[in-house]
Amino acid sequence: MSQSPTYDDVRGAATRIEPYAHRTPVLRSRLIDEQLGAEVVFKCENFQRVGAFKFRGAFNALSRFTPEQRRAGVVTYSSGNHAQAVALAAQLLGIPATIVMPHDAPAAKVAATKGYGGQVVAYDRYTEDREEIGGALAAERGLTLIPPYDHPHVIAGQGTVAKELFEEVGDLDALFVPLGGGGLLSGSTLSARALSPDCRLYGVEPEAGAKAAQSVRQGSVVHIDTPKTIADGAQPQHLGAFTFDVIRREVTDFHTATDRELVEAMRAFATFMKIVVEPTGCLGFAAVRDLAAQLRGQRVGVIISGGNIDLGRYASLLAA
Ligand SMILES: *Cc1c(COP(=O)(O)O)cnc(C)c1O
Repeated sequence: MSQSPTYDDVRGAATRIEPYAHRTPVLRSRLIDEQLGAEVVFKCENFQRVGAFKFRGAFNALSRFTPEQRRAGVVTYSSGNHAQAVALAAQLLGIPATIVMPHDAPAAKVAATKGYGGQVVAYDRYTEDREEIGGALAAERGLTLIPPYDHPHVIAGQGTVAKELFEEVGDLDALFVPLGGGGLLSGSTLSARALSPDCRLYGVEPEAGAKAAQSVRQGSVVHIDTPKTIADGAQPQHLGAFTFDVIRREVTDFHTATDRELVEAMRAFATFMKIVVEPTGCLGFAAVRDLAAQLRGQRVGVIISGGNIDLGRYASLLAA
């Protein structure tokens, strides 16, 4: 568990999740290719179970529990896609799940988590620390804590997204990955290095909180205040020890996107590809649009990480 994950771990994860996870489609748009002057392939995790790639890492991590761990149960903290991913994975594997969520989390997310059989424990995000609460529950009740990104089995599961992409499309010149705590990017990196070694790797963060770029520049994990952005899946305040270790060694560069650029990418996805993508899921494509001049003539991969957004909010973002 204290070992840094490798591509072998990604392969193992692929075998474990295969009967349960969707092999998501890779989509292209002739109009987007023409506009950008590049060949762009989109790996669509908005079509994954629970609507985001997080199901992969959660399922892989839970499927590695010992019988005792399974009986006692899992605990995690998340207000977003990881909560639902752990709840569903636990339900499929017959493991009791406790999810620590802020008391002001969107009602739809709380309902979805409970709908998968997760037991929700509410906390006050302004006065209490979710990692502490999760740790205390784990200690008191003998639960196993599965954090949203900084865990080798979670990273290995997330790496199966890029593994499937490279297996389907072959070598790429560059791959753009949404970046929060870095589970998806570090997993993608493991697969890219094994399957398309010369592919340039880009992590894309909200402009309001570019902690990864700062961390790599400084050589240690930088902590920031929770960034104010519509990209709610990319609001962690810091990378983890495991994710930083992979990212600092292998990632080519970092880029940022403003909320406005994310909305324009959402609009392009709806217009040209007819798909609903949540703001965080647009980070990679927003960066490609911004860097189009330097990507001309190249084969470019984009991970669309998720599609969970309340439709009223989606409509109002696009109308603004
Ligand atoms: C969690 C999440 C991310 C960020 O993933 P990390 O592994 O934390 O970097 C990006 N997009 C969506 C839709 C997410 O749910």
